Amino acid sequence: MINIFKDKKTFKEIFIDKVESTYAIDFNESNTYQQYVCLGQLLKQHIGKDWNQTRKKEKEMRQVYYFSMEFLMGRMITNNLMNAGVYDVVKETFDELGLDLNEVEHKESDAGLGNGGLGRLAACFMDSVAALKLPVHGNSIRYRYGFFKQKIENGYQVEYPDRWLKDIHVWETRRQEESVDIPFYGHIEINVDDNGKLHVYHKNAEYVKAVPYDVPVIGYHNQVVNTLRLWSAEPSDLYENQGGTFEYHKKLRQISEMLYPNDETDEGKILRLKQQYLFSAAGLNAVLRKHKEIFGTLENLSEKAVFHINDTHPTLIIPELMRVLVDEEGMDWDKAWDITRNCVAYTNHTILAEALEKWPIRLFQPLLPRIYTITEEIHRRFEMELRAHFGENAREVLAMAILKDGMVHMANLAITGSFSVNGVAALHTDILKEIEMKDFNDYYPNKFNNKTNGITHRRWVVQSNPELVSILKDTIGDEWIYDTTKLEGLLKFTNDDQILKRYDEMKLARKTALADKIYKEQGIQIDPTSIFDIQVKRLHEYKRQLMNALHIMHVYNELKTKPEVRQSFHPQTFIFGAKAAPTYYFAKKVIKLINTIAEKINNDSETSKYLKAVFVEDYNVTYAETIMPAADLSEQISTASKEASGTGNMKFMMNGALTIGTLDGANVEIGELVGNDNIFIFGLDAKEVTQLQKEATYKPYDLYLNDPKIKRVIDQLTNGFFTNVPQNEFEEIRRNLLDKDQYYILKDFDAYVKAQQKANKAYQDRTAWLKKSMINTAKSGFFSTDRTMFEYNRDIWHLETIK
Ligand SMILES: *Cc1c(COP(=O)(O)O)cnc(C)c1O
Repeated sequence: MINIFKDKKTFKEIFIDKVESTYAIDFNESNTYQQYVCLGQLLKQHIGKDWNQTRKKEKEMRQVYYFSMEFLMGRMITNNLMNAGVYDVVKETFDELGLDLNEVEHKESDAGLGNGGLGRLAACFMDSVAALKLPVHGNSIRYRYGFFKQKIENGYQVEYPDRWLKDIHVWETRRQEESVDIPFYGHIEINVDDNGKLHVYHKNAEYVKAVPYDVPVIGYHNQVVNTLRLWSAEPSDLYENQGGTFEYHKKLRQISEMLYPNDETDEGKILRLKQQYLFSAAGLNAVLRKHKEIFGTLENLSEKAVFHINDTHPTLIIPELMRVLVDEEGMDWDKAWDITRNCVAYTNHTILAEALEKWPIRLFQPLLPRIYTITEEIHRRFEMELRAHFGENAREVLAMAILKDGMVHMANLAITGSFSVNGVAALHTDILKEIEMKDFNDYYPNKFNNKTNGITHRRWVVQSNPELVSILKDTIGDEWIYDTTKLEGLLKFTNDDQILKRYDEMKLARKTALADKIYKEQGIQIDPTSIFDIQVKRLHEYKRQLMNALHIMHVYNELKTKPEVRQSFHPQTFIFGAKAAPTYYFAKKVIKLINTIAEKINNDSETSKYLKAVFVEDYNVTYAETIMPAADLSEQISTASKEASGTGNMKFMMNGALTIGTLDGANVEIGELVGNDNIFIFGLDAKEVTQLQKEATYKPYDLYLNDPKIKRVIDQLTNGFFTNVPQNEFEEIRRNLLDKDQYYILKDFDAYVKAQQKANKAYQDRTAWLKKSMINTAKSGFFSTDRTMFEYNRDIWHLETIK
């Protein structure tokens, strides 16, 4: 077979022919969308052999199946061209043809199959395991609608459906022959035959067919192609034969219809539980079927397979595996339990006890009758074990129970049914071990471990920041792409005027690119020589976008009332990007507040050359690729102890932004790496927050009375300061801050203002700032997911690499 991308001439011929024959037109009549589709299809064809080869080589190897409700992939074309090592040939050919590759790449829709950090983490993991030649595959749901598209109308968030599949998805391959029928509802009949063998029948089940769509995950220049398998719900032949009604068709279509736009609480509970069981059971059974084909038995399963669950959403893997081993394979319980626990590993992402996933038994039991009785049996045996260990009425027996208060406690099931539980940053894991999950950690002393999150530097630097790549090439070469600890080599150049100057130019170029995009899309002009102070992440109270907003009001007040402040203040542009869950009323009010502030200050001719604010519409992965390299200051200001890790903080750092933040999540590790002079840390730490919560004596109203700058901004929320909204528009925000302030915004406000002043002043010493910026990039190598995945493999998975 000929290599399509061998050289420009070959590629040009094949590409033109492909476009002309696919669409039955002359090439010069083709549009960028048609060119995109053909480019994608040619690349997919090109890696097809490697994909097949990888699968063959992996066949008898120990493999990991990474189950996650979310994979926030974003666009794949650029990443795929680069990883396959054909980007340059394509780019040069397109230049010769007078086509804009960038424009063609933008024809791909952003695959928003996730809400935020958790889903993006899974996507970065996929890129890194393929780069490291590890046999790891993703499993998730092929949602027909991804995370909603956000528009800002009159300052308010409005949600629109994300129809990302409306045109063809060039990367996927439908593998109908590997479908799995999944039963819901019905009832269970059990009988024991003359030989004492158990027979379990699921009667009157409503079957749904889960059909896999495989997406290739291309390793970086190494011919490895792994698989991301997305499951879609379709009518089952089993059920159709019994006469599927329209109602049945309508209901089943909903299962893979949409992603739940909420990472904290669950709505549409039954549907969400159906989604979880569908992809967990389908993914698992497809693996088991293959395993039996190859090895003829499931007895050696734990030598060959690890099912890694990203948060508790795929926890039903545990009772489902028990069901197969006990009901279908006829294994005795203890042996099946031993295999199951040696196959499953669990990553925890939440600290908030109230955010741990729970399912009401009254919903769970009728929907999944056999899975429920198995869960009950796991619970019963575990409870017996705990009673024997701690004593009949010990506190731990209830604290660690899987079933209690009419609920199935998914985290407790996940911890009991797995061999590894990891947190996602050093601080987060410490809190899990010492506070939230202390009972479990004492009971299973070697099960808990830390794996600090990361980001793939291939997307977040190589693809997104060409100017930085060029500086790195000229200073430390390109070894860092294979081993990011090599970025430290940059430290030798922090006194090199030439390189400092190029760092300055790099930032200016990236800031200009962002400013251009914002102008093009929203018509707002911002000055690339001002400080770009950026907070982009989901909108949530604990992330404290509200504190950032109040600070902007404070700076505005200072600039207005004290002309001398204007002399010492370097102009600063505050940029926000955030989606709020559609039902999260308070979060949406904060969006309205930010837009109201922006409107006021951007139009004040006295101050607008010093201070501006922008809320970018529809923040997603594609947008992030322009935003991350353009920041001077990275806002990571969550209430300490509330952000498990954060990964936005790492993307910014690698691109040379300095962090202004609290000692929360991975900020702690960023601070340790760069040292106190190269980060702006402020506010309460996790211990102090925990202490305050315990005391429950915090009175935000006293701060309002005693700190005039706090009083001023709080009063401005409702005193007519904002002329374009009703005077009570922000009443709830004011009331919340004065009555509760459960995220300690007022408590941390003064420290935040001071940290901001320090950052603004530091920016004015250009050389010193650029040095700090370089140090941040140099020390960021630790946060590559290549390191994270290396550690997962070393400590949890124990896989060999694909040869
Ligand atoms: C990285 C990323 C996130 C996570 O950001 P945090 O600041 O860690 O919460 C969310 N959304 C998108 C689109 C991202 O790229």
